[in-house]
Parts: sequence; C-alpha cells; structure tokens
Amino acid sequence: MTYDPGNIFAKILRGELPAYRVYEDERVLAFLDIMPRAPGHTLVIPKAPSRNLLDVAPDDLAAVAAVAQKIARAQMSAFGAEGITVTQHNEHAGGQEVFHLHVHVIPRHTGIELKPPLSYKETPEVLAEQAARLSSVLEG
Ligand code: AMP
Repeated sequence: MTYDPGNIFAKILRGELPAYRVYEDERVLAFLDIMPRAPGHTLVIPKAPSRNLLDVAPDDLAAVAAVAQKIARAQMSAFGAEGITVTQHNEHAGGQEVFHLHVHVIPRHTGIELKPPLSYKETPEVLAEQAARLSSVLEG
C-alpha cells in the first residue's frame, strides 16, 4: 500500500482545499470533520505523508496522539462534552475512506448516539462557529 499525495487531506495540508482549522504545530494539523458524527467532531492528522497506522513514523504518531489529547480536553469545555470518543480507521477493510492518517476526536453526551458515518453534511456557518469556539479554548 502506497501513499497517494492526491488525497483530500494532502490537499488541505497544501492549502489547495479549505478546512475549518482549529490547531496547528510543526508536525500536526487539526480541523473539523465536515460530516460530523456529533457537533465538534475533529480530525487530527500528521503533516508528514502517511497512509495510516500501518506506515506512520512513531514520532509522527506520538505527535498526533498528543494533539488528540489536547483537542479532547478542549472539546470538554468548548462543547460541554461529558465524554470523548476516539476512533481511527485503517485500509478499506478497517473503514478508512481518506488515505492520509487521521484520528477522529468526537465530543459525546450521555444518551446521544453518534450519527452514522458520512450521513450528514454540516453547514458552513455552524462549522465556522464551532471552529472559532474550539480554537478560542485551545488558545486560551
Ligand atoms: P475515515 O472513514 O476514517 O477515512 O473518515 C474520513 C472522514 O473524513 C469522514 O468522517 C469524512 O466526513 C471526513 N471528510 C471527508 N472530506 C472532508 C473534508 N474536505 N474536510 C473535513 N473532513 C472531511
């Protein structure tokens, strides 16, 4: 399995496609999922090209994990979350749709089920407001 630099997240990293960015450092970018399974659903990706967990360099994986924790903590206050679900898919058989490594960090509330994957496209207005809210907690 090889890395395809034409994937959507590689285009976001190169600035060729827009994204609701909430956090960035030298190794990692985090942005909102445009088809969220719950409000505030965020994706955390390494800047270095890697297809998924099976080929990522350990240092990039560690950097992604550290940012996933940062995002999870910020979501607790930004979205009044009661819990956080973290998922990560590898290859078609593992449920992966976009072939640049990403970790899903999803705010949860008791008794509210996740929407099915890819079932609902959030509006730009709502995504912009949620990105601003999460960014401001991350910056604070
Ligand atoms: P996965 O099944 O783990 O590969 O998940 C891919 C995720 O990428 C899905 O949750 C999609 O909603 C999300 N997604 C696809 N295109 C974009 C995009 N342009 N910006 C943000 N999220 C996206």
